[in-house]
Amino acid sequence: METKKVVVIGAGVVGSAIARVLSKYQNLEVFLLEKNIDVGWGSSKANSAVIHPGHEDDPSKYPLRSKLCVRGNRLWHSWAEELDVPVKWPGELMLAFSERDVEKFQYYLDLAEKNGVPDVKIVYSDELRELEPNASPDAIAGLWAPTAGLIAPWDAVLGLVENAVDNGVKLFTETEVEDIVIENGIVKGVQTNRGFFEADIVINAAGLYADIISKKAGIDFDITPRRGEYYLLEEDVQPRVKRIVHQVPTEITKGVFISETVEGNILIGPSAENLPLDAKDDVSTTKKYLDYIWESAKRLLAKMPPKSSVIKTFAGLRAEPPSGRWIIEAYDNPKGFINAAGMRSPALTSSPAIAEYIVNELIKNKLGVKLVEKKDWNPYRKGIKKFKLLDDRKKEELIKENPKFGNVLCMCKEVTEAEIIEAIERMKKIGIKTISLDGIKFRTTSMFGWCQGSFCRVRIARVAANYLGMPEWKIFVKDNKSSYGVGYVKTFFKTSQGDGEV
Ligand SMILES: Cc1cc2nc3c(=O)[nH]c(=O)nc-3n(C[C@H](O)[C@H](O)[C@H](O)COP(=O)(O)OP(=O)(O)OC[C@H]3O[C@@H](n4cnc5c(N)ncnc54)[C@H](O)[C@@H]3O)c2cc1C
Repeated sequence: METKKVVVIGAGVVGSAIARVLSKYQNLEVFLLEKNIDVGWGSSKANSAVIHPGHEDDPSKYPLRSKLCVRGNRLWHSWAEELDVPVKWPGELMLAFSERDVEKFQYYLDLAEKNGVPDVKIVYSDELRELEPNASPDAIAGLWAPTAGLIAPWDAVLGLVENAVDNGVKLFTETEVEDIVIENGIVKGVQTNRGFFEADIVINAAGLYADIISKKAGIDFDITPRRGEYYLLEEDVQPRVKRIVHQVPTEITKGVFISETVEGNILIGPSAENLPLDAKDDVSTTKKYLDYIWESAKRLLAKMPPKSSVIKTFAGLRAEPPSGRWIIEAYDNPKGFINAAGMRSPALTSSPAIAEYIVNELIKNKLGVKLVEKKDWNPYRKGIKKFKLLDDRKKEELIKENPKFGNVLCMCKEVTEAEIIEAIERMKKIGIKTISLDGIKFRTTSMFGWCQGSFCRVRIARVAANYLGMPEWKIFVKDNKSSYGVGYVKTFFKTSQGDGEV
């Protein structure tokens, strides 16, 4: 049996889902390459986190988007369970404020039927208020799609990568693909800042940078960064929403959403703003679009939560392809090169189905690779146990077993020293070289709460640095250039170990 080497470029939700599906086969050696210090920090980190039902894409215009969204929505039920990823299914209400909006509902009902999305219907008055008591009194009807869900997107990527690595995928972070090496029209591998990786198949899942990678393989298109800004509100704010509430979509955006995240915060956004082609990392927020989002949200609800409950504003970037169509293709020239590019929404929803499609339709059928399944493939992965969610008896048991569970470092999210250390161990296990505070944050939800780390970050830095045997100020925040401090200063007084100046 001949083994094929596969390089996947980019450990976002799409690349990681592809790596997980590839890990099922014994005759594939899979390399997942990521230029960041950690996984899932591109578009997959900052988005609306909605598992869309699939009734908003027209199959005649966007055949893959409409087909793979519905399949992805279904697959996330089993994948989230296997990977222990937090997910919930509150359903989605699109609100109508005029007879014209209600007329547009018919278009989405037709799409629901064409795409096979179950139980989508128009609701009025009492039924609408029962589904969402905080819907605006000006809303005259709603389009109810009960299969919509919400997921923790960074947890999704962590679950996918940990499971893929457990099944043999080799993850290389801080590894930037610089060139695609092609000989006589056939892919031979990729050149990176860490050397050459030989490959029979190269899958480009590089998000906003997928156009640059694709040009290196001779396939030319541009990806437009389309920025979306958000407000994140504190957990116990009132009034709230029960459902994912939004307005009628436009051609460029699905509109402003209000939802309660899987962590229990209220999320409001996004906007949609096309940026210049080279603004691929510009996640700044703007007063103009934040004001627009707040005003749009006001229209959707009977009563808005107070603006004083906002704990964070942030932005994410969509990788917008020309004409809105995902570019998921294998080529005759160069043979072995596959694009998973232009992965704009709903690619978070669709990622499991995109991965299946690439393996079944492109690798098996188009490239004709015979794949042999592993008998011992393990579909399961367990997330880090969240101390906060346990009952008192279980908490006491854990503290007895490991006193580090008794040391709560992040008060907002009740995250303990034991969880911080487990997060570090998990990073090391998948091969992350640079341990960062953001890496700990996304694995534990510490620093995610009301104080946004202003109370706990320094305590977490101290625990992590001690555990890693380094001075606390040297620990990285979000990349391998952003050390937390410059030396021993008032906050970082010199403790028993460390090599900095006082
Ligand atoms: C505002 C907004 C709202 C959204 N809402 C939703 C939603 O509610 N539901 C939904 O289904 N979808 C939604 N999406 C879309 C969804 O977030 C994306 O489709 C999805 O995250 C794309 O994943 P990806 O893996 O393709 O890209 P990314 O997550 O960007 O991953 C690409 C990775 O490639 C890496 N990379 C780039 N260049 C290189 C290189 N040269 N070498 C190595 N690595 C490289 C990057 O560092 C990155 O980690 C939204 C997106 C945005 C921005």
